[in-house]
Amino acid sequence: MDHEAPTMTDPGHDLITITRRPDTVFVSGQGAWLTDEGGKRHLDLVQGWAVNSLGHSPALITQALLAQSQRLLNPSPAYYNRPLLDLAGRLVDSSCFDRVFLASSGAEANEGAVKLARRWGSSMRSGANEIIGFEQAFHGRTLAMMSASGKPGWGEIYPPMPGGFVKARLNDIASVERAMTPLTAAVMIEFVQGEAGVVVADPGFVRELRALTAERGVLLIADEVQTGIGRCGHAFAYEHFGIEPDVMTLAKGLGGGVPLAALLCKEAFNCFLPGDQGGTFCGNPLMAAVGLAVVNEVCREEFLAGVRERAAQLSVGLQAVARDHGLLGERGLGLLRALVLPSDVAGEVVAAAQALEPVGLLLNAPRPHLIRLMPALNISAAEMDEGLALLRRALREVLG
Ligand SMILES: *Cc1c(COP(=O)(O)O)cnc(C)c1O
Repeated sequence: MDHEAPTMTDPGHDLITITRRPDTVFVSGQGAWLTDEGGKRHLDLVQGWAVNSLGHSPALITQALLAQSQRLLNPSPAYYNRPLLDLAGRLVDSSCFDRVFLASSGAEANEGAVKLARRWGSSMRSGANEIIGFEQAFHGRTLAMMSASGKPGWGEIYPPMPGGFVKARLNDIASVERAMTPLTAAVMIEFVQGEAGVVVADPGFVRELRALTAERGVLLIADEVQTGIGRCGHAFAYEHFGIEPDVMTLAKGLGGGVPLAALLCKEAFNCFLPGDQGGTFCGNPLMAAVGLAVVNEVCREEFLAGVRERAAQLSVGLQAVARDHGLLGERGLGLLRALVLPSDVAGEVVAAAQALEPVGLLLNAPRPHLIRLMPALNISAAEMDEGLALLRRALREVLG
C-alpha cells in the first residue's frame, strides 16, 4: 500500500488509512437503497458485505433496538439476560448445535472456535492443537485469524505470526489427509470462500471431509460468518451439503447490521472451563435482541423460499449478462454470487456503477477480475431487475 498525503477534498483525512474509499459520504439507508450527502440514491448490492440481511434500517431492527435500549443495555456478562437466553435458544432450535456463545465480530467468534478446539484437543486428544485451514480462506483480521486465513502474503505482514495453523487445498481431500498429523485438532472451512471470490466447495469434497474428520477424531469447524443466516438459501450453508459440522461460527448476517457474532458447538465439545472464554460485550442484550429479531424473520421456511427465488433470478440474470457482454460466467450459492470478468477491470466496473446517473449501483470487487453480489435477502424482484440493468450499463461503459 502506498502512502499518499491526505488532500483537503478527502473526507477521511482524519482517519488512520486502512483502505481506499470513494469520496462519497452516506447519510441514510432504507431497504435496498443508500443515500449520500448530495442526495443521490444508490442501489446497494453490497449491503455491508452480506451484513444487512434485511436491508438498511428495517423496522424490525430499529424497533428491537429502541425497545431493548429502553429496557436494558448491559447488565454485565457475569449475569444472564433474557435476549441472550432467547437468542441462544432460537439458534439451538434452528440448527444442529446444542450450545451457543455470543460475541461481537466474526474474527472473535472464530478465535473462540480455535480456542475451543485447542481446549478439547488438550483434554481429549492428548494435546492436539493444530488447525488445518484452506488456501485462499478468510477468517478475519486478528493476528491468529490472519494465520488461520490462507490469503497470500498475510503470513508476513505482522511477524511473528501465531503458529499452529497449516493449509490444505479446497476440494482436494488428499491435501487434507497429507496435512493431518497426530497433533491435528480441527479442520476449519468456509463452505463458500467469500473473500477468495465466491468459490463454492464441492458437495462430494465436503462429505469426504466430514467422514475423514469423524474417522480421525478431528473437529470440523464451519466458518459460516458470511454463508449463515439465510445467505445461501438455507438457514445455514451446511444444510445444502447435507452434513453437520461439530462447531460453527456466525456473524455478518446474524446482526443484520449491528456487531453480533456467535460460536455454536455440539454438547460433546462444550468444554470451556469457567473463565476460559468471555468478553465485556459478549451476550449484551442490546445486540442479542436484534439478533433474535433477525433470526426469527430469516429462519422461517417462507422467507428462505423467497431467498432461493431471488437467488435463481439473480443467477439467471447474471448468466444472461455474462453471455451478452462476453464475460466468463457467474457462480455462487443463494444470494452470495460472483460475476467473472474476462480481465482485471472489476475496480473500474465498481467505480463506473457507483458513478451512474441518476441513481448509482454499489458493487464489490474482492478480486481484480471478479464482481461479488450480496443483496439484502429481502430485496424485491423489481429491485433485482433494476440492479441487473444498472450492472449492464456499468459493464457497457467499461467494456464497450
Ligand atoms: C467477514 C468474515 C470474517 C470476519 O468477520 P469480522 O466480523 O470482520 O471479524 C470471518 N470469516 C468469514 C468467512 C468472513 O466472511
